[in-house]
Amino acid sequence: MTRWISTPSYTKEILEKYGLRAKKGFGQNFLVDPVIVERCAQQSHCEGAVIEIGPGIGSLTEQLARFSKHVTAYEIDEDLLPVLKDTLSAYDNVEILLEDFLETDLDQKVRALKEEYGTVSVCANLPYYITTPVLFKLFENQDISYITVMVQKEVGDRFAAKPNDPEYSALSAEGQYLYDIKKLFQVPGRSFNPSPNVDSVIIQFCRKREDEDVSDFFAFVRACFKQRRKTIYNNLKEYYGDGAKVKEILEEAGVSGSVRSQQLTVEELREVYHAAKSLR
Ligand code: SAM
Repeated sequence: MTRWISTPSYTKEILEKYGLRAKKGFGQNFLVDPVIVERCAQQSHCEGAVIEIGPGIGSLTEQLARFSKHVTAYEIDEDLLPVLKDTLSAYDNVEILLEDFLETDLDQKVRALKEEYGTVSVCANLPYYITTPVLFKLFENQDISYITVMVQKEVGDRFAAKPNDPEYSALSAEGQYLYDIKKLFQVPGRSFNPSPNVDSVIIQFCRKREDEDVSDFFAFVRACFKQRRKTIYNNLKEYYGDGAKVKEILEEAGVSGSVRSQQLTVEELREVYHAAKSLR
């Protein structure tokens, strides 16, 4: 029987063999639960090409390699390269790139992968310290059809949040605009080495909009949420630098200047955005 990398004893052996300790600064928490890792890969719609952010010692990468045609994994920690070369030596469909994912030209990579393999999805146990910027970066690429990620429970709650909920934010509005969002399953702390102090959850985003450049709309949404305690009028006044124009925009959209953005649904934010465009 194959001994998967995520078997607790095997992970421990690998870490010992290479004298490795999980680096907090890189958000390293290794998954040591073969059932969860396999289920996560199986449900990720990774049959074409799949992108992983942070392969670590290769536990999820290995499962993705079993179910997909090609895996591209971005790893920032150069100490993990020799480990991955060793642990993934049985798979010839894995490409490890020693790169900061936030710095990479994602659009170019996704285009090339889509051309060669037909579909591109993302599956990752995300480093918690950069969850939000990673997700924002992924959201801007319309060719990624599924994103399956392990995140802190609080982040999962933000995607489920509705207007007026304390967790409702720019991330919630953007996520809900672009995707059907599903919680796949919860992951207990004991499934990691080392165990984090927070609960985790695997969520899946299924893209519902294609062929639409959302970067301008999202910049607008982030401006609306820039200072949570301020009204939409004040946030937009700072964004456009012109109070009279903002009054006109809000009037056109039928939204009162005294509301705060977290009281508005993403559809209402979209109406304000359209009003701003039409009055430009
Ligand atoms: N996938 C492995 C697992 O599930 O056991 C490791 C997950 S661990 C939570 C996060 C991984 O992301 C680590 O390997 C870490 O070195 C890597 N990482 C952190 N920041 C990164 C970045 N900016 N770009 C690429 N990888 C990064």
